[in-house]
Amino acid sequence: MNKPLILVVEDDGTVRNLITTTLKSNEYRFLTAADGESAIAAASIRQPDIVLLDLGLPDMDGVEVIHRIRSWSQMPIIVISARSEDTDKIAALDAGADDYLTKPFSVAELLARLRVTQRRLAAQENRTGESTFRNGSLLIDYGAGCAYLDGVPVKLTPTEYKLLCLLAKDVGKVLTHTYLTNKIWGSCWESDMASLRVHMATLRRKLEKDSSVQYIQTHIGIGYRMLKL
Ligand code: CA
Repeated sequence: MNKPLILVVEDDGTVRNLITTTLKSNEYRFLTAADGESAIAAASIRQPDIVLLDLGLPDMDGVEVIHRIRSWSQMPIIVISARSEDTDKIAALDAGADDYLTKPFSVAELLARLRVTQRRLAAQENRTGESTFRNGSLLIDYGAGCAYLDGVPVKLTPTEYKLLCLLAKDVGKVLTHTYLTNKIWGSCWESDMASLRVHMATLRRKLEKDSSVQYIQTHIGIGYRMLKL
């Protein structure tokens, strides 16, 4: 199997070196770009497996890079942002980024994010028009519109079921509050955000009751992710 090729987009030489050293010692191939234009060019010419993208670039906003790449490719993009760029991070996820890392991040965290993205890719490739979804003891039967835990039907409201399907469709990926409320109610008012929190809380109670298994992870201020078990 080919080693995955990672495009590292980062103008800060120190962070870039940390990332490329980590990639090199963990069996990844990589190429680098220090600004948005060369990142877009490298993405189209070299077709990397995953893009690691810093949001603060000298020539353009990282979110613009995502928009440009998304106009022709679904290649996974993991955003790297400073803590002060929280709203940019959300804009990046809404623009189609798959995941994010907040600076400063550890090498272990970087590798974990890469593994999550690779697992999600593998799951997508295996999921060609399947009528069911399995994850741990959870089974969704799309045809019947039902979810089961260990074979026992879970009583879900229509909104909870929709939320579960959205999270399952992008298992391993962080979905923002805006994305979810838009998918469910077609809007993202403050009241929708509040409803989302309520429905997500009841869904989690139904899925995670009586067990230590965690299916849904909360990203405070950002959104939710279904963990791949
Ligand atoms: Ca930067």
